[in-house]
This record gives sequence, C-alpha cells and structure tokens, in this order.
Amino acid sequence: MAIQQKLSLMIPGPTPVPEKVLQALSKHPIGHRSKEFQDLVESTTENLKWLHQTQNDVLTITGSGTAAMEAGIINTLSRGDKVICGENGKFGERWVKVAKEFGLEVIKIDSEWGNPLDPEEFKKVLEEDKQKEIKAVILTHSETSTGVINDLETISRYIREHNTALSIIDCVTSLGACNVPVDEWQLDIVASGSQKGYMIPPGLSFISISQKAWEATERSNIPKFYLNLQSYRKSLLSNSNPYTPAVNLVFALDEALKMMREEGLDNIFSRHSKHKLAISNAVKALNLKLFADENYLSPSITAIKTEEMDAEEFRKIIKNNFDILLAGGQDHLKGKIFRVGHLGYVNDRDIITVISAISNVLFDLGKITAKEVGEALVVATKYLEKN
Ligand SMILES: *Cc1c(COP(=O)(O)O)cnc(C)c1O
Repeated sequence: MAIQQKLSLMIPGPTPVPEKVLQALSKHPIGHRSKEFQDLVESTTENLKWLHQTQNDVLTITGSGTAAMEAGIINTLSRGDKVICGENGKFGERWVKVAKEFGLEVIKIDSEWGNPLDPEEFKKVLEEDKQKEIKAVILTHSETSTGVINDLETISRYIREHNTALSIIDCVTSLGACNVPVDEWQLDIVASGSQKGYMIPPGLSFISISQKAWEATERSNIPKFYLNLQSYRKSLLSNSNPYTPAVNLVFALDEALKMMREEGLDNIFSRHSKHKLAISNAVKALNLKLFADENYLSPSITAIKTEEMDAEEFRKIIKNNFDILLAGGQDHLKGKIFRVGHLGYVNDRDIITVISAISNVLFDLGKITAKEVGEALVVATKYLEKN
C-alpha cells in the first residue's frame, strides 16, 4: 500500500500545481469590486496577452475550457450559419455537438482518430465557398483524446484567405505548451482552460477575441446571458468582471503567469518539446507503439497503444504501485490506449519517473527485458539533455 498524498498527476488536466500557486489559492478571498482585485485583473490580463502573443482582448471566465469554446461559438454566430468543424477526436466531436445544439449548419472535415486533419481539405471547402456562406472554422489544435497536434498554422492561413470565416480554435492543450502566436496567425477566437498549461486547478477559462470577432458579436442572434462576451469586455475596461469571479483562482492565475513569464515562452515550449520526444522515443524502445501519427505528436500528451494488454489494467497497476495517475482511452479507445500527460508544471524528473514506472511494470509482466528497460532510459536521457 502506497503512502497517501504522493499522487503524481500525469493526465491532460487537472495538471500538477506549484506550491506557490497553491499558497496563493489558500489566501482569504477579497472583494471582487475592490481596487486590490482590479489591480490583479490588470496584471493578469496583461500577462494573458503576453502568453497569447496578442494585442487582442483576452477575457477570463469562471467556468471550464468548454465554457470558453461555447462562448466563442454563441457570441459570434447566428442560427443557421454554416460552419466547418474539424473532427479527429473526442474534443473535435464535442464542438460539432455544440455547434449543432445552437442551430448551426455543420460541414464536418474529419480524419481517423490518431491522424491529423488535412489542411488541404479545409482549403478546398473554403475556396469553393464563393458566396462566403461559411462563417467560421471550428477546430481543436492539440487533440487531447488522441495525442495529435493539428497543423493550425497552415489551416489558419487558408481561413485568412477566405476572408470571411472566423477561426474559433480550441487551444486548451496547446497554449502554454507550444507556439500559438495569436496575432501572427490572426486567430480570431482562442479558448483555453486553467487546469491545463496554466498550472492552476480547474475553474477558469480564457478566450482571446480579435477585432473581426468583436464585429461578428454585433450580428450574432444566439441567446446568451452568463457567457455574453460583450458584458465581459465592458467590465474589463475597468478591470472588473460582470459577475463574481473565482477570486482565489485569480490569485493563483497571477502567480502562475508570473512563473511562466520568468521561465519565458521559448523555454516553456522547448521543455514541452523535449518531454514529448523523451516519452515518445522511450516507449518505442519499450516495444510499445504510439497511437498518434509520429509527425503530429501533441506537445502535451502522448497516447500509447497497449495491444495485447488491457490499458485500463495497466493504468491500475501504475496507479497502485507508483501513485502515478495516467489517463485512459476514451470511447472506442478505452482499454486500447493509455495517455501520459506532460503538460504544465512538469520537469525532467517526472518524465524519468513515469518512463521508469512503465518500464518496471512491463518488465514485471515479462513483456520486456532488462536491456530494453535500460535502453528506454538511455533514449529518454538523450532527449532530456537537449537544452
Ligand atoms: C481539457 C480540454 C478541454 C476543456 O475541457 P473542460 O473539461 O471543459 O475544461 C477542451 N479541449 C481540449 C482539447 C481539452 O484537452
């Protein structure tokens, strides 16, 4: 029996939370209309813009990541609008459901789970839309359910060339893990959530909104109240919120963003990149196969096939023996894959530990030799030494 309180979260959210951020959370709340809180909102807003690499407004909403995505959709579109939804996993599927729920006409561009979306398909559909009926392209940058990163840079270029459609992008597991230059790629709406790359517990979501998207909000006729972004924009002019925000989570956000600024964007991205490479190459040395297309590996989550082993059973052993929580497969992938989250507050030790734990269990089960255990660690070390 493992001792309590040593649980290591290696799932794609909630992610581990630094001590400093936990301490900020445990402070006594303050009034959300106070000058002190306004100062805090001013500081977090500025740092959120830095993280998004944008001059656009970035709003904070109390709610999970889905709230930010839903807000993006219902504030900029109207019933009956035609939208393209990219779908190559569970989250892509969710945005199709949301779009349909609000009466949008969905053109689905999909690809098999584990493969990336094909940018050329977006190009084709957008180019054929001479009447400019397509009002938005909705897609997931890093598809957490499969560990695939989609080529947002190219797709966003095709969206810009269309000139009318807005981009509404789920960057929940890419923002703060790899480069998402909102202004450079001219992304209209970018949604993210606190329990992912931000190193904060769940409860806050973030949305950046371009001028073009604000203009679209004037035309939108989908009903909304709590998620009406114009209310948030108006309040933000005085560094305030329309409703009571999760004050303590904002304390935490302030600390976390300061930590991120201290580390710097390039260092954050290269840390995620080397961790991705260390894990993906180590598991191959352990004779396991990656679920995602190797040229499109997400920076924050690695999905691994277990083939003749039950992935749920494997996860249970890792949890019982090592107190490491891994994620399972969703839907038809349940039992077939497990997923290692390496997003946010993760260091080289976490990576070495999880690779060792996986190796240990495979060795115990007689699936691999001692030589392969050693090779996996050597491979991981090689990637971790970089930078
Ligand atoms: C976690 C996640 C979300 C948000 O989910 P919530 O549970 O609403 O916070 C959205 N998209 C992706 C890709 C995610 O990984």
